[in-house]
Amino acid sequence: MVRILAIANQKGGVGKTTTAINLGASLAIIGHRVLLVDTDPQGNTSSGVGIKKAEVKQCIYDVLVGDVPLEDVIITSDVKNLDVVPATIQLAGAEIELVSTISRERRLENALETVSERYDFIIIDCPPSLGIITLNALTAANGLLIPVQCEFYALEGLTQLLNTVKLVQRHLNKNLEIEGVLLTMYDARTNLGQQVIAEVKKHFGPQVYQTVIPRNVRLSEAPSYGQPAVIYDVKSKGAEAYIELAKEVKANV
Ligand code: ADP
Ligand code: MG
Repeated sequence: MVRILAIANQKGGVGKTTTAINLGASLAIIGHRVLLVDTDPQGNTSSGVGIKKAEVKQCIYDVLVGDVPLEDVIITSDVKNLDVVPATIQLAGAEIELVSTISRERRLENALETVSERYDFIIIDCPPSLGIITLNALTAANGLLIPVQCEFYALEGLTQLLNTVKLVQRHLNKNLEIEGVLLTMYDARTNLGQQVIAEVKKHFGPQVYQTVIPRNVRLSEAPSYGQPAVIYDVKSKGAEAYIELAKEVKANV
């Protein structure tokens, strides 16, 4: 059975895209068939795995708004076992265009159903908002992975996200679970990092992943080479952490 994970937090810059790319690639490296779905108009997940956006003719926008079969927009990446559904800036219009369409929150769920048998994991990278696109992701998913940056305002905004999760569970997807809370960009040299970890654990208890993602320059460099860090420099601390995370995610299934 496929496991569909949405990676969401309406805050920007918390590590959603970095996690989608490197968790997706790590699961692929350890032998799972993975589909990485980019639903952020920025398209950073797509470019981060080497897809040249200028060459993308159809993207997730055409699936959500234009009824193009998902199959037609899937691209095989250079990473074995890793396929990608790209997003381009065109997707920015979807929030408004979907408002008046039928079953607007179920577009992604319906599209993923048509290919779900081919994959072990489908990872959805969400945009930094709680709009219709993120609702589509939460409606399609079995689990939500919430990246939380180890910084002073770490927990800010999470109440709003959790309220959205409750609404989705009540009205759209009763099977949605919080798969886990992932601490990102941890800097061992500061006390703040430790404090944030303690605070997030106090709040979320066992839902927090054992694996903590360190702040690591390889993770931020890799996208400019169009490669996941777990390919670009598999020995780096950042890559090692994402491989560990993949094992944890696998063990939770
Ligand atoms: P989001 O998708 O939530 O907006 P990103 O994954 O794009 O966040 O991360 C924001 C920025 O921080 C990017 O430039 C990314 O390369 C960088 N970054 C993310 N995680 C790390 C990390 N663990 N160490 C260093 N830089 C990181
Ligand atoms: Mg992002």
